[in-house]
Amino acid sequence: MKLLEEKIKNDGIAVNEHILKVDSFINHQVDPILMQEMGKNIAEHFRNKGITKVATIESSGISPALTTSIALKVPMLILKKQPSKILNQDLYQTVVTSFTKETNYELTLSKKYISEEDHVLLVDDFLANGESATAAIRLIRMSHATIAGLGVLIEKSFQPGREKLNAQGIEVFALARITKMSENYIEFGPS
Ligand code: 5GP
Repeated sequence: MKLLEEKIKNDGIAVNEHILKVDSFINHQVDPILMQEMGKNIAEHFRNKGITKVATIESSGISPALTTSIALKVPMLILKKQPSKILNQDLYQTVVTSFTKETNYELTLSKKYISEEDHVLLVDDFLANGESATAAIRLIRMSHATIAGLGVLIEKSFQPGREKLNAQGIEVFALARITKMSENYIEFGPS
């Protein structure tokens, strides 16, 4: 998506070869018009896949997941993080390793809001190593719901997330794919 690539070039900050900061339009301040366009683009790609729900991990995935779910006219599910492992019969629960914070956390989803009838599209801001998406898929599959695919705003395609997800049978769609990055330098590949 050219509009997103332009925005990343102008307002994104490549901190080093691994981390891109997009705080001014995605992660801290949100550009709502761009977010709406990005949600429409992800929804368009998956439109005829019979999606019943859009799911994301709190908190940075919520904006793109919401605009995607509005475009698809289906509910959005927020997979919740909790710090400690408190077993609860009403929840599906799984442990995740966080890339940015380098900690473990518990990801949870209430059994009330998902069933085996659901076909879920996962949406997130970034795809890097695919750890959080893999955990989200593991959690959703506990309910025997099926996964329609993963839609992300930005894929860092020099990291192994896509291969990891494809190996689990998950289709990945990214609006912008970064092939190379270093301090103040960003290179895009075809999306
Ligand atoms: P993964 O689990 O694919 O390694 O990482 C995905 C999550 O880590 C994303 O949801 C995002 O919150 C965070 N993340 C990974 N790489 C970056 C990055 O370069 N910049 C920012 N802002 N977040 C990132």
